[in-house]
Amino acid sequence: MNADELLLTAVRKCRRVDLYADPRPLTPEEQQTCDAMRARYQNGEPLQYVLGECDFLGNTLAVDPSVMIPRTETEILVDTIVQKLRANKLSKPCRILDLGTGSGNIAIALAKAIEGCLVTALDISEDAIAVAKRNAEVNGVAQRIEFLREDMRASLVANRAWIKNFDCIVSNPPYIKTSALAHLPADVRQEPRLALDGGSDGLRFYEAIIRRACQYLKPEGYLFFEIGDDQAAAVKAFLTQNPFYRNVCFYPDHTQTDRVVCAQTAKVVCSQTTRVVCEQKDEHTWKS
Ligand code: GLN
Repeated sequence: MNADELLLTAVRKCRRVDLYADPRPLTPEEQQTCDAMRARYQNGEPLQYVLGECDFLGNTLAVDPSVMIPRTETEILVDTIVQKLRANKLSKPCRILDLGTGSGNIAIALAKAIEGCLVTALDISEDAIAVAKRNAEVNGVAQRIEFLREDMRASLVANRAWIKNFDCIVSNPPYIKTSALAHLPADVRQEPRLALDGGSDGLRFYEAIIRRACQYLKPEGYLFFEIGDDQAAAVKAFLTQNPFYRNVCFYPDHTQTDRVVCAQTAKVVCSQTTRVVCEQKDEHTWKS
């Protein structure tokens, strides 16, 4: 649907086909609402914030300026995870950790697609967690997703008791270089900075998650990321230089750019050794 169709279907609370099958004029109240929404959009506010919702893999999700607007690239991430997990024998229930859940798009889509799975979803923002919880309820998967307001970096380092034995850890972390934030299109700059800012090189979350995630995954567990345009080589280096991962592979988006990365933990993971290695390196990671 184009922007006009999206505004009109939202105002008339109808389907796209009804706009053409029943092209009645708007009532004065509808016209007023429509004009106000159109003005916000024309002023540069992202259309999804104006509408208050968006579609992610067929799930309708509420969005507001406290959460990043889910992107179609992230649908590729979720599709890839679903294919991979379905193709493998997983423990039941399959346990998934979503780091930086935002609107809950990834957690909710996975909970719907993978039968019986249990998802733990973290976000540093209290407001984002509130949006994500509502979205999980509306989409009927609130029982299988635990939402926690946590700073993922602190949680991973703190070796919290609940973060362990996951079959899969996923993140679409903030990955824009801090210096590039000011040059983003005006509508993107209205999205939460916390959801976009990946530090001076845009890689700080990948480096930190890769360092720690192996400690919380089962042997042969999966780590999945969405990555930015030019980040495949750097993320590949973090993974291949780390002895706890293997089977690193990339998946392209619709423009043939590597967009999703997957790695697996080794068959046998000695958690004590992993912890010692991780802890030696943490201090460096969190300085950048
Ligand atoms: N998980 C959410 C998404 O993929 C939020 C990501 C983020 O805040 N960086 O859209």
